[in-house]
Amino acid sequence: MEKADKILAHGIVVAMDDQRHVWRDGGIVIKDGAIEFVGPWDQIEGKFSADDVCDCTGLLLTPGIVNAHTHVPMSLLRGLSDDLRLDVWLLGYMMPVERAFVKPDFVRKGTLLSLAEMLLSGITTFCDMYYFEEEIAKAVDEAGMRAILGETILKFPSPDANSYDEGLDRTEKFISEWKDHPRVIPAVAPHAPYTATDDLLTRAAELAIDQGVPLHIHLSETAQEVRESFKEFGLSPIARVNKLGVFKAKTIAAHCVHVDREDIQILRENNVGVAHNPSSNMKLASGMAPVQQMIRNGVHVGIGTDGPASNNNQNMLEELHLASLLAKAHTGDPTALPAEESFAMATIEGARALHLDHLIGSLEPGKRADITAFSLDAPHLIPLFDLGPQNIYSHLVYTAQASDVKHVWVDGKQLLKDRQPLTIDYGEVARDAKKIAVSIGDFVIHRERSLLDKLLAIAPGVEQRETFEIQVKARVPDLSEIERRIQSSELKVLRRSVRQQFDTYFLFKDGNQGFIRYREDNVLVHHKGRSNLPGADLDVKPQYTLTLLGPTVEREYANSVILRRSRFVAPATHSLRFYREYFRPDREKEVVKWRTRYHIDYEGEDFAINLDKLTKPAVEEGFIEIKVRTWSKADAERKAGLVNELLTKLDIPAEALVKGEYVGL
Ligand SMILES: [Zn+2]
Repeated sequence: MEKADKILAHGIVVAMDDQRHVWRDGGIVIKDGAIEFVGPWDQIEGKFSADDVCDCTGLLLTPGIVNAHTHVPMSLLRGLSDDLRLDVWLLGYMMPVERAFVKPDFVRKGTLLSLAEMLLSGITTFCDMYYFEEEIAKAVDEAGMRAILGETILKFPSPDANSYDEGLDRTEKFISEWKDHPRVIPAVAPHAPYTATDDLLTRAAELAIDQGVPLHIHLSETAQEVRESFKEFGLSPIARVNKLGVFKAKTIAAHCVHVDREDIQILRENNVGVAHNPSSNMKLASGMAPVQQMIRNGVHVGIGTDGPASNNNQNMLEELHLASLLAKAHTGDPTALPAEESFAMATIEGARALHLDHLIGSLEPGKRADITAFSLDAPHLIPLFDLGPQNIYSHLVYTAQASDVKHVWVDGKQLLKDRQPLTIDYGEVARDAKKIAVSIGDFVIHRERSLLDKLLAIAPGVEQRETFEIQVKARVPDLSEIERRIQSSELKVLRRSVRQQFDTYFLFKDGNQGFIRYREDNVLVHHKGRSNLPGADLDVKPQYTLTLLGPTVEREYANSVILRRSRFVAPATHSLRFYREYFRPDREKEVVKWRTRYHIDYEGEDFAINLDKLTKPAVEEGFIEIKVRTWSKADAERKAGLVNELLTKLDIPAEALVKGEYVGL
């Protein structure tokens, strides 16, 4: 009799080996954390003995479930903001909240919550990408699970690094600390091509290759990402990172939703593992990954939950169910991704995608004893036909729930017993998580009430301008007449420009907040002598700005109006659609105008004179605006006097004066 450490007896064993063995009365023999033998019970009985024999009668024993892509600490952001587009969700909500909250303690507590959740859905191995990954490593070590942990690197400051140089240093240190751990596999995780420079990607890959660790990255998740990559680099994101040598590292690519034949070929040739995330792709409407096509072309595709803020759970049973249904809906073919293939994606193919199939993914002698046991007692699992293995895969993929998971072992050590986590103090974990959530909730509520805080959250470099300004505005029947007067007067013209301005105003019920203006400013630039053809010497140079105009305090002085208000200006780096979905205005107004702007010097001061012709809303007359900045009350009064002198010089009568912004006209 051979002595083992543990025997799981009389279960229905689903091996997921190459022959896809299923033993209706089977057993698993475990020694030193590895599988010593697996097979029919009659080959175990009398041959092996152990002090610890677990009766698994009526249980389904499968390889531990592999979650190929997630961001575990984001469990603390679950349900915070949903039903948004990816950019608004990520840049408008997740990243600002992360900048404020993601500290080592947040990471640890969010991780423990996720580990409990994952164990309860039968997950034994997961592949992560986040910040302060060393905290995740410690939690994984304590909980006894297995994970690939990628320290995220971004081209801009992240919660744990001010620059990507720092991010790379951090990653190197993390790798050296955890490299020899039996269950924690450190990795390099450049977040995505669109958040990385070529230099970042190249250096991240070199680090992964030097250290012999995996590289984890998001690739081709949205159509927009692919479109912009073609525009900027002339290559798909996959072709671009391939050109940079990224795939020389053992790569795990999350998503790969928008991939073409060439991309798939690159993935296969470089043995890039793909993590398919059906819930996340559907919820964020990123699209449907051509899973069937990738698998047929020899790409190893696993399944991931993605982070719990975009899913919103880490239930792999739900995920593999959806993967199968989505493949059928996508291809219009009900035979696409049958249950067996789908279950393989959550086990052996997932292990291959993570480059860990030498250790896990199937129940075979020599592999680590990572095992999930499902109870078959619940009404939805009855009956279980015995027509062939397909009945079992069908139950696992289409029927089983996370709540059917009964026991979990990793390296032969039991981590979940009768649905109780043995290595995690779940009571404490839940209490801690709820406590952190209260402060996150308060932060978001506060931020949503203040337009300035919302603006600062997405444009940290926002600049405050002009606290005081003096302005007059008047209707003029003929703008060319005014131009003639400016040019013939003794006013010294410093600059003149012509521009078309498309302004979209976001207006809010609470007027005390001010309003937001998104401006597309098309300045016409002259290139003298470029060509004799009419118009050839003109270029349009669009500039986009986002301005928060605070509520104004007005004081009239002579004919001028002295305005005091805050004005925060940021370059508008996102689309109008992004800002609309992010700020959610109560009303919107558009103003389009042609503006001829003169900068003149009068009495040693720089005045702006705008000659405006509104085309939307169309206004018959033109407008003149005279503006000057000031910094104090006394100076304001002096300049208001100068503005009045200018009005007289340009022959503008007092009756023509109007008050307010164009948006209010
Ligand atoms: Zn992700």
